[in-house]
Amino acid sequence: MAIVGIDLGTTNSLVATWTAEGPKLVPNALGDFLTPSVVSIIGGEAIVGRSAEEQLIARPDHAVAAFKRWMGTEKVTRLEGRSFRAEELSSLVLASLKRDAEAFLGEAIEEAVVSVPAYFNDLQRRATLNAAKLAGLKVERLVNEPTAAALAYGLGEVEEAEFLVFDLGGGTFDVSILDKYDDVMEVRATAGDNFLGGDDFRDALLTDICRRHAIERANLVGGEATRLVRFAEGLKIELSARQSVTYDIELAAKSISGTYERAEFEALVKPLLNRLRIPLERTISDARLDPGQLAQIVMVGGATRMPAVRALVGRLFGRLPLTHLNPDHLVALGAAVQVGLKTRDAALHDVVMTDVCPYTLGISAYHSGEGRKAGELVTVPIIERNSVVPISRSDSFVTISDRQERIDVEVYQGENLKPEGNVHLGTLSIPVPQSKAGRESIDVRFTYDVNGALEVEVRVISTNEVHRRVFRNHADLDDADLEARFEKLASLKIPPRDQAENKLLVARAERIYAESLGEKRERVAEALRSFTNAINDARNAHPERQREQFAQILDRFETDVFRDRD
Ligand code: AMP
Repeated sequence: MAIVGIDLGTTNSLVATWTAEGPKLVPNALGDFLTPSVVSIIGGEAIVGRSAEEQLIARPDHAVAAFKRWMGTEKVTRLEGRSFRAEELSSLVLASLKRDAEAFLGEAIEEAVVSVPAYFNDLQRRATLNAAKLAGLKVERLVNEPTAAALAYGLGEVEEAEFLVFDLGGGTFDVSILDKYDDVMEVRATAGDNFLGGDDFRDALLTDICRRHAIERANLVGGEATRLVRFAEGLKIELSARQSVTYDIELAAKSISGTYERAEFEALVKPLLNRLRIPLERTISDARLDPGQLAQIVMVGGATRMPAVRALVGRLFGRLPLTHLNPDHLVALGAAVQVGLKTRDAALHDVVMTDVCPYTLGISAYHSGEGRKAGELVTVPIIERNSVVPISRSDSFVTISDRQERIDVEVYQGENLKPEGNVHLGTLSIPVPQSKAGRESIDVRFTYDVNGALEVEVRVISTNEVHRRVFRNHADLDDADLEARFEKLASLKIPPRDQAENKLLVARAERIYAESLGEKRERVAEALRSFTNAINDARNAHPERQREQFAQILDRFETDVFRDRD
């Protein structure tokens, strides 16, 4: 029975195994190491990975991505009339990786080391363990993502040293300082920006493309908006490899062409590069370190491929960061290193010192400001996300109408200004003495502990009456609960591995169909029809030939728009 290391990522997930030659990545049914962390349910069939990702555009109501952000919360996603919590969606991803590893290694996998962000609190960690349980995996230990990245570079072997791990993914930025001593890797400080990632660099470029070519984003119809995003994404990635990229594309009913120099792109993203400095400086000062003390700087996450990001880190620390391993693979490889250590009974102890509250917690209230905003219902943050826990904060609120009898304190979790964009945790209905508007006030205190429990205490100032409610996490599954969830997941069909390529081609064609219009649409539909007929024909002796041809047809529908000018 083998044990595997798993990187359960927001965008992509990977699985790796420990071998005599070191850690090794395991390919999925399509031969890729990266499996998009996307789940789709179509006709009761659960699909994970690239095919599911294509469905995000073709049938957005049937697919979901980025659910890692909701781990440990009560938020549910409805797909085909069934509700799924983040841990259930994650369990489908884990189960798919488990099947890939079993097919690759030819033996049953029952155990895994799974990575989690260093800032995950107890609740989020328990949700991850539950996801593994639901996927039929025993998880004795979770590994912190920055620790795994350091292990992949062999830094677990170092006697005593401090490292900085710089992780810039698609949507988030995390910085951690690790302290290695004895057989312990301690996360001494973490900081980050939940709203800064590679996608923002793409968006900066996208805004500039629209300015250059007088494209009104708001007027884009059908799949045009998504095509524009893909185009900007491709351009950004090309600019990491080349100094200058020339493009020529039909977009938003126009033929647009031009050239971007890398320097031009770097000027556009200057404000984003500056924002990267803030968490870096904060972790260094939180860990009370002199940057010169850092033995190594590890770069993780796809967006660290941007030369400007590498140069910034080089400049700030006066030395080159470690970049020779693929930044997308590090965490999975490191999780497999931890598997190797575990099987030798030499597992490294991985501890986090700082625990943070991952989401903003607040209540809804009417905006008291002047002008247009006055009277608008907004979320007022009480505990800001990323605050180190335990933490306690309070704010006061007043009645808004004459003879008001009660104040409803609606508790929310999330980053949206509008309450409906956040997760509603519950309500405390507080009776107050009737009086003129604004006369009665309440003091609302939020206390968040290391276990992710939130205590809300409301005091009516005039009467000194106190109301209290504790919002607890419900992440622990008892046996009956676990059984019920197993049954729900077991009722989903899992497509056979040998159909993975066909499924992806069909999903891709459906996505291209959704994105195009008119005659092109007809041509895509026709090609899709003849492909499905061919593969469903029992007399067809060479399905791989049809697959290849169909893939070529789809490639032609999505022709490369960049020309090399280096
Ligand atoms: P991750 O979440 O670690 O998979 O990182 C995904 C992010 O990395 C996305 O924003 C990608 O656009 C970005 N990315 C991947 N490769 C490159 C590249 N060669 N140049 C610039 N950004 C990249």
